[in-house]
Amino acid sequence: MKVLKFGGTSVGSVKNITNVKNIINDGNKKIVVLSAMSGTTNELVAIANHIKDENSNEAINKIHKLHEIYSLTIDELLIDKTLNNETKNYVSDIFSLLINSTYKPFSNILENTILAQGELLSTYIFNCYLKQEGIRSAILPALNFMRIDTAKEPDLPYIKKHFETVFNTAETSDVYITQGFICLDVDDKISNLQRGGSDYTATIIGAVIKAEEVQIWTDIDGMHNNDPRHVENTKPISNLSYDEAAELAYFGAKILHPQTVTPVREYNIPVSLKNTMNPEAHGTLISSITSENGIKAIAAKDNITAIKIKSGRMLQAHGFLKKVFEVFEVYETSIDMITTSEVAVSLTIDDDRNLDKIVAELEKFALIEVDKNQSIVCLVGHSVVNHEYTYKLFKILKDVKIRMISYGGSKNNISLLINADDKVKTLRKLNNYLFELVTV
Ligand code: ADP
Ligand code: ASP
Ligand code: MG
Repeated sequence: MKVLKFGGTSVGSVKNITNVKNIINDGNKKIVVLSAMSGTTNELVAIANHIKDENSNEAINKIHKLHEIYSLTIDELLIDKTLNNETKNYVSDIFSLLINSTYKPFSNILENTILAQGELLSTYIFNCYLKQEGIRSAILPALNFMRIDTAKEPDLPYIKKHFETVFNTAETSDVYITQGFICLDVDDKISNLQRGGSDYTATIIGAVIKAEEVQIWTDIDGMHNNDPRHVENTKPISNLSYDEAAELAYFGAKILHPQTVTPVREYNIPVSLKNTMNPEAHGTLISSITSENGIKAIAAKDNITAIKIKSGRMLQAHGFLKKVFEVFEVYETSIDMITTSEVAVSLTIDDDRNLDKIVAELEKFALIEVDKNQSIVCLVGHSVVNHEYTYKLFKILKDVKIRMISYGGSKNNISLLINADDKVKTLRKLNNYLFELVTV
């Protein structure tokens, strides 16, 4: 069986929902993972933030506006009176729950409950639409099987066991629909797999059922060789290895959640990235096959903080790096890049929630400098470190201030740390020289 995931834009308009129906209606049994309709999760985040700031009037305004948008979409999509009424009742209950949330004290659980409503809405509406169109479908409630453990990683044995129960007790159907993104935590409270997490839901399910393939349907024809939001003339990459896709997703290619390939790579399950608005396009196939050497793509990750840790004769003092890493371990903060010299070590983090505490600990044994607002630009490709243009990088980027460089950590990745203000310029320059073959 295949797992097909459709993102926000794919379920964000009546026209696109019709495309989705045409894609899935091929007579084969399948599991369909849906995101919230486009814009919904951002609005829910804004609503939660207003509640946090005790600005309930703003929150209530936003909830009413969102409810209106849903009512209009339902009227356009569901012409069957009974299904239309049934859906509107369900949707009204969800919006009442949101209004009630504005009277409650803010908490993480309240926030996660608010954020979860987008996927509950989209799956319910889509299921009713398929029924209207005469397609046999059933909902597999994600909160009955998707769970994260104490390390906030998917609890695969739990998910496998509970998914099987939910699947086997569902009404026999051709299309089994489930919510992306949402899950329970170890205390059975509502949580999520972080923004963009529906991709991750799809590959987690793919791994537990040993799917034939996982397809991620979105609004672009696969992984492009640079960020299309900032660079013109980017091109889709037809094949990527799991390693290359993992590097690109981790280092900022927004098309994939950073952990997407992790669950499926060990089972060799292919992941195909496809465009809902152009299903004929090949898109990108992610598999264990590695192709020719070279720079395949460039990605960038924002909101990076660089920390320089200075101490007299750092490298001679064995145990120094251990002390440094222990501080990050205590605050459960992962390090992305690291460079060392005789007197200092520089490293980067993207989660700065515990930055003040980390700096206070490090200052007990070293001098600390912090630079916020940095970006990591990452070049990815099989054996990219050996590519014929790699030696020209410094020349290509001669007017960009490079703060750190990581080369050789893996053969598939070269990362540069730069000021966020230089990001777009850097992406464009690299694109010209690496893909448009402008000479230097
Ligand atoms: P969905 O809602 O379907 O999950 P996303 O917005 O999460 O879609 O991801 C698709 C978007 O990712 C594209 O519209 C594009 O703007 C952005 N993107 C960023 N980098 C890349 C890249 N290298 N290749 C393709 N898309 C990218
Ligand atoms: N709806 C969630 C988000 O916007 C999950 C997803 O779209 O993948 O982050
Ligand atoms: Mg996404």
